Amino acid sequence: MAEKKKPTRQQAWRKRHPKRYLAHLTVQNAMRLGVIKRQPCEVCGNPKTDAHHDDYDRPYDVRFLCRRHHKQHHSKGAKNGAG
Ligand SMILES: [Zn+2]
Ligand SMILES: [Zn+2]
Repeated sequence: MAEKKKPTRQQAWRKRHPKRYLAHLTVQNAMRLGVIKRQPCEVCGNPKTDAHHDDYDRPYDVRFLCRRHHKQHHSKGAKNGAG
C-alpha cells in the first residue's frame, strides 16, 4: 500500500524553484567550509544578513544584504531577483 505523503511546503517550494534551492544550498555549504564568508549588509552594515543572488546560475556570486535592504532590493524590480 503506497501511502502518498503530502509534500511539505518546503518540498513544494523546492520543486517550484530548483535553481534557487540549489543556489542557497551551495552558499550554505560554502559558508560552512569557509569558502564564502558572511559579510555585513553592503548598504547599512547590519551584521545580520542574507545571501542574495543576482543570478542563480552563479551560486557563488552572492551579495550580503540585511533583511530590510534585501527586501528593498527585490522590490526595486531586480528582474532575476528572488533570492
Ligand atoms: Zn542593510
Ligand atoms: Zn535576494
